Amino acid sequence: MQKIQNYINGELLEPLDGEYLDNYEPATGQVYALIPQSTEKDLELAVVAAEQAQEEWAEMPAEQRSNLLLKLADAIDAASDELARAEAIDNGKSINFAKHVDAYRSAANIRFFANATTQFSSESHSMGSVGVNYTLRDPIGIVGCISPWNLPLYLFTWKIAPALATGNCVIAKPSEITPMTAYLFSRLCIQAGLPKGVLNILHGTGPSIGGPIVAHPKIKAVSFTGGSATGKHIASVAAPMLKKISLELGGKNPTLVFADCDFDTTVSEVARAAFSNQGQICLCGSRIYIERSIYDKFKNALVEKVKKLRIGDPLDEQTQHGALVSQAHMEKVLSYIELAKKEGGDILCGGNRVTVEGRCEQGYFVEPTIIENLPLNCRTNQEEIFGPVCTLQPFESDDEVIRLANGTEYGLATSIWSNDIKRCHRLSKALDFGIVWVNTWLLRDLRTPFGGVKSSGMGREGGLEAMRFFTEPKNVCVKY
Ligand code: NAD
Repeated sequence: MQKIQNYINGELLEPLDGEYLDNYEPATGQVYALIPQSTEKDLELAVVAAEQAQEEWAEMPAEQRSNLLLKLADAIDAASDELARAEAIDNGKSINFAKHVDAYRSAANIRFFANATTQFSSESHSMGSVGVNYTLRDPIGIVGCISPWNLPLYLFTWKIAPALATGNCVIAKPSEITPMTAYLFSRLCIQAGLPKGVLNILHGTGPSIGGPIVAHPKIKAVSFTGGSATGKHIASVAAPMLKKISLELGGKNPTLVFADCDFDTTVSEVARAAFSNQGQICLCGSRIYIERSIYDKFKNALVEKVKKLRIGDPLDEQTQHGALVSQAHMEKVLSYIELAKKEGGDILCGGNRVTVEGRCEQGYFVEPTIIENLPLNCRTNQEEIFGPVCTLQPFESDDEVIRLANGTEYGLATSIWSNDIKRCHRLSKALDFGIVWVNTWLLRDLRTPFGGVKSSGMGREGGLEAMRFFTEPKNVCVKY
């Protein structure tokens, strides 16, 4: 059985307590690897390593740091087939998705911030003949990065890359549910010659190692992506310690379909927005609002499209819809489908666990599920399900759909499908979300601010926002 190891001070190490957790392959329901259950003792080793590495890394010229990170991005590209396969096994996602989204973006994240650090500059403010202010942006020091299971290496590198690029040393924890690609990544860091101690990767559960990372007095900032409840807890620990925190949390994203949309493209893209990665993307559009005049036509076309999604072994290139990430998550998703029925919802397609013949017989597969006839204020439409489940609801007017779209505690992302340019701009302004897509979904430019409002988070990642988060501004005022 393969044993995952921690990455501390440039070395792959066993957890000091010798404790391991089981790592499951969701498509088969079988344990296939062991995960270190790290504790504060392992954290202490990592903090000492990061402290020792900090000065040299922070003082290194940006170009040199950039070159090291570019080498790492190249190493990810060279290993992309291996990483994609590992991600598909560990997470249950289709290998095609893992290749074109997860592996591709992991390298792109590192490359983007490696380049950004050579272009990053800070402000100066002239006071005319009196003097000048300039702002230094130094690294914070040692920072913590904690990531979830849905896009494992993609979201892990999305945090680590700007933290390293700006000269911080990092203590990072991937999700204990999908640790494999972070482990493979630590081997690539060694191969690419990343200086020891600059990045340390500790595996284990939230209580065992995530909590201690957040609470450690020498870790000055925490960048977290995960559920809103965990985010609120992390904020409650970090706030009294006056730590800088960035929180990317859950969503319940609305998709707004107007009668004047490009019909066929919109059907395909709305299906993609709802069911990509088995609906396990924080940005997935799970509440679909359709203008009443095309409601039936759009509903029928969407259901037809979704019924054709090929459910199967994630390692099969033809599979479009893989397994959910764990048994517990599958049970949660199925319980929401039962709840939706109790709340009066009608299932238009899906609704059940699926058995995939062969090696995946015991896997955690759930059909893509579309539900209608539920009001905004029911739990199904208010709570994040984070699975292959979406609801449909008709609307009559712009004002009504704005009210519906804004009517949950979340505010991560939304998409508008219409050819009325004025309406698109007006709605973009009125919708209470961190990200608005118009006639597209998940089209990403890594320079843009990324994140949500309300219970979807605090702060933004991406581009300069991330570079600023991971640096501390210091104003120097000089009188002439
Ligand atoms: P989670 O909150 O359970 O776990 C996320 C990470 O936090 C894991 O590494 C976990 O071990 C760790 N953790 C758990 N308890 C902790 C604690 N007390 N202290 C420190 N760390 C702790 O989330 P999840 O189930 O892994 O991921 C799904 C959630 O992530 C969904 O809500 C989804 O919307 C959200 N998400 C948000 C974004 C975004 O960018 N906004 C992106 C992806 C996923």
